[in-house]
Amino acid sequence: MPYKAPVDEFRFLLNHVVGYGDVSATDRFAEAGGDMVDAILTEAGRLSTEVLAPLQREGDLHPAVLENGVVRTSPGFAEGYKAIAEGGWIGISADPEHGGMGLPIALMESVNEMMNGACLSLALNPLLTQGQIEALEHHASDELKALYLPKLISGEWQGTMNLTEPQAGTDVGALRSKAEPNGDGTYAISGQKIFISWGDADFAQNVCHLVLARLPDGVDGTKGISLFMVPRNLPDDNGNPGERNSLRVVSLEHKMGLHGSPTAVMEYSGAKGWLVGREHGGMAAMFTMMNNARLGVGIQGIGVAEAATQAAVAYAAERKQGKVGGSGSIIEFPDVRRMLMTMKAETQAARAIALANAVALDMANATGEAGWAARAALFTPISKAYGTDVGCEVAELGVQVHGGMGFIEETGAAQFYRDVRVTTIYEGTNGIQALDLVGRKLMDGGEAALTVISEVEDAAEAARGQFPKLADAVWNAAEVQRELTEAVLEMDMAARGAVAVPYLRAFARVLGAHYHLASAMAEGSEGPRSGLARFYIARLLPQHAGLAAEVRMGSDGMDALSNEELAG
Ligand SMILES: Cc1cc2nc3c(=O)[nH]c(=O)nc-3n(C[C@H](O)[C@H](O)[C@H](O)COP(=O)(O)OP(=O)(O)OC[C@H]3O[C@@H](n4cnc5c(N)ncnc54)[C@H](O)[C@@H]3O)c2cc1C
Repeated sequence: MPYKAPVDEFRFLLNHVVGYGDVSATDRFAEAGGDMVDAILTEAGRLSTEVLAPLQREGDLHPAVLENGVVRTSPGFAEGYKAIAEGGWIGISADPEHGGMGLPIALMESVNEMMNGACLSLALNPLLTQGQIEALEHHASDELKALYLPKLISGEWQGTMNLTEPQAGTDVGALRSKAEPNGDGTYAISGQKIFISWGDADFAQNVCHLVLARLPDGVDGTKGISLFMVPRNLPDDNGNPGERNSLRVVSLEHKMGLHGSPTAVMEYSGAKGWLVGREHGGMAAMFTMMNNARLGVGIQGIGVAEAATQAAVAYAAERKQGKVGGSGSIIEFPDVRRMLMTMKAETQAARAIALANAVALDMANATGEAGWAARAALFTPISKAYGTDVGCEVAELGVQVHGGMGFIEETGAAQFYRDVRVTTIYEGTNGIQALDLVGRKLMDGGEAALTVISEVEDAAEAARGQFPKLADAVWNAAEVQRELTEAVLEMDMAARGAVAVPYLRAFARVLGAHYHLASAMAEGSEGPRSGLARFYIARLLPQHAGLAAEVRMGSDGMDALSNEELAG
């Protein structure tokens, strides 16, 4: 079944659940109210459904290939990319000074989810450029901004991020790429980078690589790393792509999925680069890009979850098997319903959390208030890890709903699973997201986390009149989350490392239940949203108790087997 962008869902969540009204009430985003939101969602939904969704299978069947040094992209991707660029979607939240639309991140993420649900491998391309735009806006010199931002925002040029090297994955500080000053303000960049998404494309006028490398006086570890803009084609005096820089795509990876996105091994051989930010300040600059990208990758998972759910529901409504009442299709079987309801409820929960994250970012940008920034920072690892876990779990359930046909490629169910699997790995593995949550994000003594938990409890109190049982369950889970947060704050880092993943999932369960309850309240009377809230709170929220038990264990049991016994 073809993907259909869930435009009404975004409209409902933004308008009634995640507090978008606060964003459009600020001076900065005063233009981004009702009609504008409708127009953006409707047009992005049309592009996703009509133009991008048909490319999903093309990318899988005809992967990008490297031919004589040129990355040949999947059929139709050039046209799909052109449609994204011409619609202005790449620069939707970029600064208007350089040609962006300056719209809220909550709208950008809504649009991105639709594009990712339609065709994940192509939508990854503008996502990287958006991250690069944000990094340049915050850290680049005025000259670099003036030259690169208009071209990146218009989509004429594309952006990549180059961190990973064979020996430097999660441990970025182990990277060996070098930057030597050329004496004229530019640098010569040398080294090999691996796993570089969209490292090149035959439809790109220019590819702008943001590369992490070490200057000669850079100390070991992350503190000695600097960030450089290294374009494939050196801009000429008029700012047009000129002679080729000394860099090349050595090979493309053969992957489990996401075949339409070329994942490149890049070789830099004294390539000319320009410093972005200050010397040895590369990690701070790259973090601007990575934070944007982390929420963006969470959104990728949710987009695929939506697409996988739509396909599974359509299949289950058609497939006849055995004697069953109602429609006579497998959708009537309780176990199939369990899977479909789980898929829908998880997707909605993850979407609401990610959009609330985006709203917090917008409020931080519009008001400068530290509380909003702290909330956005707290939500980011949850949005990334829960959004992508949901992507994988929902896609996996989608295969199961299809039975044997789920394992056969024509249905597309298997592709969702293969494509989305990487999202829990890149942009910081989900294990690293969880460590970020129990480490840096609790360094405020738990203030941001406990403030959110109090708000969840207040909202549950307010819902008691209308949904007493649901409200009670949400309030109780929130109270347990408060106790868990206090317990984690008492733990040393080794114990925090052991409980990080269940703590993050437990937090996501509470937030998911909170937003489902808020949706039910906004609906007003009994309807599909309160039905979904009932399912989530009655059947998925109870997992919180198991996760809580695991968190309370601290490090217990982790070293129950030695390394040798593990291998034995
Ligand atoms: C398809 C694809 C596209 C990618 N695109 C890009 C890109 O565009 N640019 C780019 O720079 N990189 C990119 N990457 C690289 C990606 O970001 C890394 O694969 C990821 O950061 C993990 O690094 P690694 O593969 O070396 O795994 P490792 O770092 O070796 O991790 C292996 C396991 O150990 C765990 N682990 C590692 N360190 C710790 C720790 N300190 N504490 C607890 N657990 C730990 C991890 O969670 C993981 O489970 C891409 C990767 C893929 C597969």
